[in-house]
Formats: sequence, structure tokens, C-alpha cells
Amino acid sequence: MGLDVSFSRSGGLPVHTPVDGSVIGAMNPETAASTDAAIERAVAAFTQWRAVPSPRRGELIRRFGNLCRDHKEELSCLVTLDCGKTLDEARGEVQEVIDICDFAVGLSRQLHGLSIATERPNHRMAETWHPLGVFAQISAFNFPVAVWSWGTMIALTCGNAAIWKPSEKSLLSASACAGLLARACEDFAEAPAHLHQILTGGGDVGAQLAADPRVSLISATGSTRMGRSVASTVAARLGRSILELGGNNAAIVTPSANRELVLRGVTFSAAGTSGQRCTSLRRLIVHESVHDELVGQLKRAFSQLRVGNPLEPGVHAGPLIDLPAMEMFNAALDQARAEGGTVHGGQRVLAEDYPDAAYVAPALVEMPSQTPIVHTETFGPILYVMRYRTIEEAIAMNNAVLQGLSSAIFTDNMREAELFTSSLGSDCGIANVNIGTSGAEIGGAFGGEKETGGGRASGSDTWKAYMRRATNTINYSTDLPLAQGVRFDAA
Ligand code: NAD
Repeated sequence: MGLDVSFSRSGGLPVHTPVDGSVIGAMNPETAASTDAAIERAVAAFTQWRAVPSPRRGELIRRFGNLCRDHKEELSCLVTLDCGKTLDEARGEVQEVIDICDFAVGLSRQLHGLSIATERPNHRMAETWHPLGVFAQISAFNFPVAVWSWGTMIALTCGNAAIWKPSEKSLLSASACAGLLARACEDFAEAPAHLHQILTGGGDVGAQLAADPRVSLISATGSTRMGRSVASTVAARLGRSILELGGNNAAIVTPSANRELVLRGVTFSAAGTSGQRCTSLRRLIVHESVHDELVGQLKRAFSQLRVGNPLEPGVHAGPLIDLPAMEMFNAALDQARAEGGTVHGGQRVLAEDYPDAAYVAPALVEMPSQTPIVHTETFGPILYVMRYRTIEEAIAMNNAVLQGLSSAIFTDNMREAELFTSSLGSDCGIANVNIGTSGAEIGGAFGGEKETGGGRASGSDTWKAYMRRATNTINYSTDLPLAQGVRFDAA
């Protein structure tokens, strides 16, 4: 059976592929009434799904993961059409969905609580974990399916019903994934109708989900601007959110660094996915003794990268998501020049072949210091390079921005590596040694601090955010001792 891409019916708003700018479908956005009805259906689905034992819930996730395995190549093509990343990277993204499914299946047998020492005789105290309610996922264009799977596979395993509001810019792969999940539910007796629903639309649909008290947990991935709006809306109703927002990620290159690792790690992190990963490398902080030589090597490495149609083999980087993204890219380079930067690369390419698409050469920008533009996340392949003298200065530069997602140090010096990963080191949610800032594995908790939002979407023990914790104190005596020795003998 092939993939169902049901959103692409006629009418509605056009959806473009970044590959050549052509129209690949149409979106009929939800109305306020249809979004409201979907939330109501999800509440009903939750009341049934929460009663299903979690290992059985995991079985549903296993089925979905296997369907993704069967359709990996088709899904990968849709991811490339949706967001313009190379086919190889798209395959990596679909593999991430499959990996998260495996992780969730294992988790379905390990949703365990603690037993805790109690001060009262013949009492028992324990923590139990229960399904939370309706989970809503808002996702960004640049990881059109992986980000959804991080949250939704965990949420479903934990006994929640789920709603997905994918980016309005990347609907093909989202629609196909939702179709595969629906197929997994089809002959799965315990799966209630509307256990998972996909809602198409823009920020207004996401904002409605954020505002609705029937949504117990909302996970929002995207820009800091969007996160600020979701956070304040959810906070006003004292709800729960997981925020996965923008990054401004740095790597420090020390004198002892293995140059081969630096060149490969930096080039992939900065130019891969055309700089459109939340973890893309945007700032390179290089020791003054190796700065000039490294800049020369990186200029050569950048100029050898093949920017082109991401469906073709051998291409390193595809287009930016759309022409407005290219305008922002150009504006950032202009601002960098005005702030004293020297720009290498960064020109538009393939304009004749693809006039409606936004192909650009990655830009390496030598900066005198971390000026205002260096503090800004521009979603494209721009790498700002600065010098440092002491390791303390380099760490301070790493931490000087408002975002706190990913960071790295390249060094063979154990003291520098340990300092960087210590409490005095990087203040980011991800701190790597001798690898780049992007390309995280699913086993670790993923997310960042400060304006990145503080959320952790998946991996490690993040499942706890998707459940409700209850503390149970059970008295199996015939006495009623009060905690802290309090006496109340009225009866
Ligand atoms: P975006 O903020 O424009 O849109 C993201 C999603 O939010 C879309 O589905 C959009 O419709 C929705 N949205 C927009 N306004 C909203 C509102 N007021 N209320 C509710 N929903 C709203 O982001 P984008 O351009 O799609 O993605 C790029 C951004 O995402 C970058 O900043 C990148 O760093 C970030 N990102 C972060 C992570 C992470 O894990 N930290 C992962 C991927 C992308």
C-alpha cells in the first residue's frame, strides 16, 4: 500500500516546495469551530486510551514504526520536497522517527515510579505515574516529521490522546505520517477513534490549541517569537508547555584541536541542511594562534560544497525554505558588513535554473567581535568567526547570547574539555566535545536553556513531562499518626 497524502486536495491555500518553488498541494486551514471539535474528540479518545495497559500502547507504536520502516524511502522523498534538505539527511530524519518508536516501545514497559521511605509506622509511600490528557504538538518546517515523533510517540505511549499542528510550510510528509499512524490504528482494537488527529493551518490554529484548557500539555517547536506567544497564553491558564525554540550555537576551536575533526564537524554543522537546523553552527570561536590558518581552510572547504537540487545525489546542501528566507539571509550579511565583518561566499546560486527557489552558497563571515547580528539567529548557512585568547574568554563568548541550545568544543586538552562540560562551562542544553553542534541522537534529552525555552522533548527521562505524577500514602495500620508528629485528638 502506498502513502496517503490527503491534505493535497484542490482549493485552499497553495503549498510550495522549496526545491523549485512550484505548487505541490493546497491547504484548507481549520476553522475555530473545527479545531474546537477536534479537541473535544481528543478528550473522548483520551478517556479510553488511558485505560489501555502501557505495554499494549507500546505495541501500537511498534506497528507505526514498522510502517515507517516499510515506507522509509517514500517518506524521505516527501521530507525533501517539503523542506529542501538533501535526501540523505531526509533519510536520517525518517530514521529518527523509527528510532523514537523503538525507544517508546521500550519505554512502554518502564514507566516506573519510586517507593519512598515514610516516617509513619505501617504506612507505604509511593509515586505513581498516570496519563495526563490531550497532548498537542506544534512543529516547525525544518524537521517536518522527526520533531512530531519525539513528542507524540512518547505522549501516546504515556496514555495521552494527541493532536498535531504541523508547519503550514511542510505538509506532505506530515500528512503521510499521520496517514501511517491512522493505518496502524485501523485494526488495533484498543485504539479509540481520533486517538491522533492532524490539524492544518497557520499560527492561529496553534494559538487556539495553546489557549484551550482541555489541552493538558502543548509542545511547541519553532521560533522564539512563537514560543513567547505560546508560553504567555499557556501560563495565563496555568497549563503545561514544552518549548523547543531558536538556537545560536557556538563551537570553540582550541590550539590542540584535531584539525581534521574541526573541518568536517564545522562544515557539516554550519552548512548542512543549509543552516536550517535549530542546532546549526552559527558562531565559531577560534584561538588567535590558529585563527588565520583555520579560516583559510574553511574558506576552501565551503567553496567545495555542492549546493543544488536536494533530490540529486552528491549534493551537500539544498535551498532555503523560501524567497523571504533568502531576503533575511541577505539582510543579515549586509548588517554583518556594516558591523565590520568580511563576508566570504553567501551569494545566490542556481537562480537561472530555479528562479522561484532560494539557493545560496554558505557564508563564512570574519567578525571583529560578537556584534548585534552575531547575537541573532538567522535561519540560513552563515558562520560568524571570532578570535579568543583564553579558554575562560571563549566560554564567556559561548554563553554571551540569549539562546542556549547547542555548543561544542574541539580540543585534545582534557582540562579544557572538562571545564567546558562542567558547571562553569557551556550554559547550553547540549555541550559536545570533538563533534559539531548538530546531529543529536534520540537517547539523550533534547532541548536548550534561556530563550530556547527550557523544554526537553524526548530521550532520557523526559517521559515524565508527558504524565501526571501522584504521591500515594497508604496506611495499613489501625492507627492514624499524623506527619511531623502533629497531634489532633478531638474524636
Ligand atoms: P515558526 O515559529 O515560524 O513556526 C513554527 C510553528 O509554530 C508552525 O507550525 C507555526 O504555524 C506555528 N505558530 C506560529 N505562530 C504561532 C502562535 N502565535 N501560536 C501557536 N503556534 C504558532 O518557526 P519555523 O520558521 O517553522 O521554524 C524555524 C524555527 O524553529 C527556528 O527558530 C529554529 O531554531 C526553531 N526550531 C527549534 C527546534 C528545537 O528543538 N529547539 C527544532 C526545530 C526548529
